[in-house]
Amino acid sequence: MNMGVKRGFVDAHTHLFAPEIVRDRSGHLARDAWFGELYASPKIILVTPEDLIASMDEAGIQTSIVCGWPWRDMGLCREHNAFLAEVRREYPGRIAWLAIVNPASPEAPAEIERAVAQGAVGVGELNADAQGFSWERPGELENAMEACLHLEIPLLMHCSEPVGHAYPGKGTATPEKILRFIEVNPELRVVAAHWGGGLPFYELMPEVARLTANVVYDSAASTYLYGFDVFPVVERLIGNGRAMFGTDFPLLKQRVFLDRVLRSGLSESSMPALLGGTATDVFRLGQEAATT
Ligand SMILES: [Zn+2]
Repeated sequence: MNMGVKRGFVDAHTHLFAPEIVRDRSGHLARDAWFGELYASPKIILVTPEDLIASMDEAGIQTSIVCGWPWRDMGLCREHNAFLAEVRREYPGRIAWLAIVNPASPEAPAEIERAVAQGAVGVGELNADAQGFSWERPGELENAMEACLHLEIPLLMHCSEPVGHAYPGKGTATPEKILRFIEVNPELRVVAAHWGGGLPFYELMPEVARLTANVVYDSAASTYLYGFDVFPVVERLIGNGRAMFGTDFPLLKQRVFLDRVLRSGLSESSMPALLGGTATDVFRLGQEAATT
């Protein structure tokens, strides 16, 4: 790895919460069922922007994409967006962020537009189970998807494996549901988180590969789901430039995860796209609205 590449590393999937939630999450556990389920245990840590930047410096990561949390309530979504816009103002070039909305809410399109004007580079991490909508009823999401298309921003969706072990936050957004959504939104740029719940493996089927032409995948939480062979294996299935390094920090440590990716057997020539090039293109990093 030369240093020029290293400076451009991007972690495409991280999470931050507002300082009052990091200090004391107890009030929020009852305000949102999904947050309550995932963060009831004090062992599941929440971090500050300073913690994230320190971790990035340690790992040699230039930019982290911070995802919004999938609040069901639009008021909580708006608060989260205001917080992330502020963090990015504090750390320009180091932090990029995704706006969170409940995509089934009539208020979603206006909030997406407002967030993009505040520098958001996409929408997500949307989560059907957490937010009470269904990827299989895309009609309910039409207006929010229209806003993404119009603003030319990608949508990051939480995906779930249809098989394997159960874990908090897994959900039921499995590949067949995601495909049904993609089928009616072929123009939309979609980032399917957590390796798309295994969707890349079905890309060996030509009709699936046709539908997923606009889909890229991230590796968030990979350590909990797959062996690190998943990096070279998925690259062989879908080609270079369609997967992004993402950790799900603070769930996984950036430096440890990155070291394991570098030793995963993925070819040297594929590393620049995986570790930053694809994220820079997909989120058009560096071109977001400048706000002061
Ligand atoms: Zn997720």
